[in-house]
Amino acid sequence: GKKTIVLTGTSSGLGKATLKALCARGDNFVICGVRDMEKMQAVAEELGLDPSSYTIRPLDLSSFASVRRFAKEVKAVKGGKPLDALVCNAAVYLPARDYPTFTPDGIEESLQINHLSHFLLVSLLLDDLKKAKDPRCVIVGSITGNDNTIAGAFVWPRASLGDLKGMQEGAKEPVSMIDGKNFNGAKAYKDSKMCNMMTVNELHKRYHDATGITFSSMYPGCIAETALFREKRQWFRTLFPLFMKYVTGGYVSENEAGERLAQTVWDPALKTSGQYWCWNGQAQQFGYYDPATKQVRGAGGSGGTVFPGKLAGQVMDQAKAEKMWELSSEITGAT
Ligand code: NDP
Repeated sequence: GKKTIVLTGTSSGLGKATLKALCARGDNFVICGVRDMEKMQAVAEELGLDPSSYTIRPLDLSSFASVRRFAKEVKAVKGGKPLDALVCNAAVYLPARDYPTFTPDGIEESLQINHLSHFLLVSLLLDDLKKAKDPRCVIVGSITGNDNTIAGAFVWPRASLGDLKGMQEGAKEPVSMIDGKNFNGAKAYKDSKMCNMMTVNELHKRYHDATGITFSSMYPGCIAETALFREKRQWFRTLFPLFMKYVTGGYVSENEAGERLAQTVWDPALKTSGQYWCWNGQAQQFGYYDPATKQVRGAGGSGGTVFPGKLAGQVMDQAKAEKMWELSSEITGAT
């Protein structure tokens, strides 16, 4: 039979392209978790998807109640069958706001949508995943949350969880940042992506041996045209893709990025758990400095092959990751 895959944020950008790639393979059934059912219906029509290859369910990641309802729906849809893969892709990027916006649960939007709700969703579906033959759990990361990379370390502001003071205080309004400091939208996004990658490392450490689930994160490359940059000014949205394509070489098309994320689900070569997958395109500027070989390996860019990227700095701080994990469990009620 077909593999059952849960994918969040399929109505746009990377999620949409990944859905297309997964459905095209013919052996997948994708449960699309989206906040806007009508938009998704139109997207599915536009892609011309075979109705037997997907279904759409409401999921608003700005509400823990909605995440819990969605997890129940997923269980109902697949009946007694195992869940083969869970791909956490949806995210918001809110760099233009100089004030924080809070979810119905009273949590800063990027923190809850990008990290906390996915954290909860993984915990709710872990048991269903472990029954599958080759279960995969993927959370999309980003170079910007990895302070080992040139883009992550030198493009202001840097991701930093500080001593997690904001989370310790419950991460509720008026607290807007994980480190408890003043709101900065671009940093809130980077911090949330840092949490995504730390979550994968912790999941691997805590559950891989016991469950056989392959946990991984990945950096798709810079997909400069997605709606992620919707808050950026028009001149930026026009010039950024050109800059990424012709100056840095870090540009990757939505379709190619979608193939990459889909690959983390099906490719036997990507079965190693605890990895952060990158593709070795031409983008030297966005690469990883490898102290062992004294070389920079390109990440992003089009073309190239997949390789296990290196995470460093805070993302690999074990004590911090454990604290982040425990506080995320408390805030979300995940068990
Ligand atoms: P898009 O904005 O195009 O897509 C984001 C998706 O998330 C949309 O489908 C959106 O829904 C959905 N979403 C947003 N808020 C919610 C919510 N509250 N509940 C449910 N779904 C929600 O961005 P991208 O495709 O670029 O981003 C996808 C992933 O790729 C993210 O994890 C991002 O961090 C990552 N990434 C992107 C890079 C890039 O260059 N673009 C680079 C590195 C990583 P809707 O369609 O309704 O808006």
